[in-house]
Amino acid sequence: MTENILVCVAWPYANARIHVGNLTGAYLPADIFARYQRLRGRRVLMVSGSDAHGTPVTVRADAEGSTPIEVYDRFHQGFLALFQQLGLDYDLFTSTHTQNHFHVSQAIFLALKKNGYLYNERQRQWYAPSLGRYLPDRYVEGTCYLCGFTNARGDQCDKCGSLLDATLLINPRAKTDGSTPELRETEHFYLDLGKLQDNVVAFLNQRKEHLRPNVLRQSLGQIESEPLHGRAITRDLDWGIPVPVDGWDGKCLYVWFEAVIGYLSATIEWGKINNMPDAWKDWWQNEEARTYHFIGKDNIPFHAVIWPAQLSGAGKEFGEYFEGKPCEPLTLPYDIPANEFMNLEGEKISGSRNWVIDGLEALTRYDPDPLRYYLTMNMPETKDTDWDWSGFVHRNNDELVATWGNLANRVLSFAYRHWEGVIPTPGVLRPADEEIIRKIEAGFTTVAEQFEAIHLRNAISEAMSLASEVNKYLDTMAPWSEIKHDKLAAATTIYTALRVIDSLKIMFAPFLPFTCERLHTFMGYSEPIFGEQLTQSVQDELGTHTVLGYSPAKASGRWVASQLPAGQTLQQPAPLYKKLEESVAEEERARLGNKQ
Ligand SMILES: [Zn+2]
Repeated sequence: MTENILVCVAWPYANARIHVGNLTGAYLPADIFARYQRLRGRRVLMVSGSDAHGTPVTVRADAEGSTPIEVYDRFHQGFLALFQQLGLDYDLFTSTHTQNHFHVSQAIFLALKKNGYLYNERQRQWYAPSLGRYLPDRYVEGTCYLCGFTNARGDQCDKCGSLLDATLLINPRAKTDGSTPELRETEHFYLDLGKLQDNVVAFLNQRKEHLRPNVLRQSLGQIESEPLHGRAITRDLDWGIPVPVDGWDGKCLYVWFEAVIGYLSATIEWGKINNMPDAWKDWWQNEEARTYHFIGKDNIPFHAVIWPAQLSGAGKEFGEYFEGKPCEPLTLPYDIPANEFMNLEGEKISGSRNWVIDGLEALTRYDPDPLRYYLTMNMPETKDTDWDWSGFVHRNNDELVATWGNLANRVLSFAYRHWEGVIPTPGVLRPADEEIIRKIEAGFTTVAEQFEAIHLRNAISEAMSLASEVNKYLDTMAPWSEIKHDKLAAATTIYTALRVIDSLKIMFAPFLPFTCERLHTFMGYSEPIFGEQLTQSVQDELGTHTVLGYSPAKASGRWVASQLPAGQTLQQPAPLYKKLEESVAEEERARLGNKQ
C-alpha cells in the first residue's frame, strides 16, 4: 500500500473571493480526502497557494489605483481566513509570488528548453508608444469585428460573447490612457506540445481505468479529434516570473504555465520551512507516491495534458537547474478527480450579479460543519448540482441533526446522567449488541472503499446509513425503559451504543471535523483526532508572505473500530448541531441578486 500521498489543490486566483461552488468543486473534497488519508496513518501532504500573477490582477490594481502586490495580498489574506474557519487543513498554502516558486518555475522552463521542447515564434501584438510597452489582450479595447460592439475587450466581446483575436479589433485604443496602439512584432517562447504528445497519451492510457470520464473526455478525447500543437508560454508583461534568458527583459512566463508548477514548488517550500530540504523527493521522485489533483472541470486540460507534458518534458534536467545535479524523473499525477459545477437555486453562480454564496460570509451565519455537510451531500462529482436553500435546511434538520447529532447527544447525555459521568461497564454482550458492533465495524472497510475511489458522497451516505442502524438498535433495545427494571441491561445497551458512536465519529471526522473533535472530547479523550492549523510569515528576496501550515496530530492510524474503555470519564455533553427554522431558506433567497 502506498504510504506517501500528495494532495494537490487548485490554486485560487487572487482577484476574486471564494464561493460555495469553488469550495465544493475542489477545496473541500481535497481536505476531506486528505483527512481520511491522515486517519489511515499515511504520510500526507496537502499543498496549494494563491495564484498571484497575470493580467486579471494588474487590471484590478489599475482600476483601484493600487498595486498588483496589494491586490494579490488582500485576496490571499481572505483565502487564509476562509480556510482556517472552514477547517481546510493545508500542510502549506502559499503563493506563486515567492522566490522559491520563481526559481522552481524557471528551472522547469530551462529544463524544457534544454531538452528541445521549447521553440521561438514571432507574433504581432499591440504596442502603445505613449506607454512604451506592449499591451496584453485585456489592455486593449475597440470595436468587435464580429458584431460591431464598440466596447469589446481584446480577448473577448461582452456583447456577442465571442473570443477575439485582439489584433483584428477595429479602432483599437489602450485601456490605460485611451491612446492608439500600433501593431509591432514581438517574440515569444512556445511549449512544443506536439513533440510531447506521445508522453501525454502514454500517461493517460496508464491511468485510463481510474480517471473520471470527464477528465478522459477533455484529454484523450480531445487529442483524438485534434492533435496537440505549440502554445505560447511567455508574454509581454512585467507582473510575473521573468523569462530566465538574456535579452528577454519585460517579458514573463504565462500564468497558466507557472501556476501548475506551484504543486512542486509548494512541496519544496514546505520542506524548507520544516528544515527538511530534500523531503519533496519523497513525493516527487518516488514511483510509489501518489499525487492527486483536486480541481474543477474548467481546469482539466491544464492538469491532464499540459502539466504532465511539462513534468515529463523537464525530466532529470530539472535537477540540473534546480540544484546543480540531475534528478530522478518527476512523478506524474496519479489521479485528477475533477468535479463538475454547482449552481445556485437553479441558476449559474455569478459574482457580478450577486447570485452567489460567498464562503466567508456564509460562515458568519452558519457553523462550518453544516456547510461542509451540505456541500458534500451535493458535491458535483458526476454532474452539475444545485445549492438549494430549502435543501440546506432539510438536510441539516432531517439528517445532520435528527439522524446523527441527536443520536450522539441523547446517548451521551443519558450515560452522563445515569452512570455518574463515566462510560458504563457492560454485562455480557447479547446477540443484538454484537450484531450492531459488527455492522458498524464493517463500515471501516465499506466507507474506506468509497474514500479510496474518491466517491465522497457515497462515503458520507454510507456513514449516515450506519448511523440510522444505530438509531434502530436503540429503538429496539429502549435503554430508557430498560433502566427502570434492569440497570445492567441498560448499561450494556448504552456501552454498545457509545462504542459504535465512537467508531462512527472517526468515519464522519473527515467531513465534520469540528463537531467530531467536540464529540471526541465529550467521550473523554485528551489527544485530538487531527492536528492544528497555524500561520507563519516567510521572508525572501521578494518580501514577506504569510502561509497557512499544519502541525500534525500526535496520534495517527485512527481508522480502526473503537475499543471504548469502560470507566473512561465523560465530559458534560452538549448538542453538536442546531435545528434551522424553515424561514431561513426564504431569508437567504431574498439576499440573492441584491447588491449589498
Ligand atoms: Zn462582438
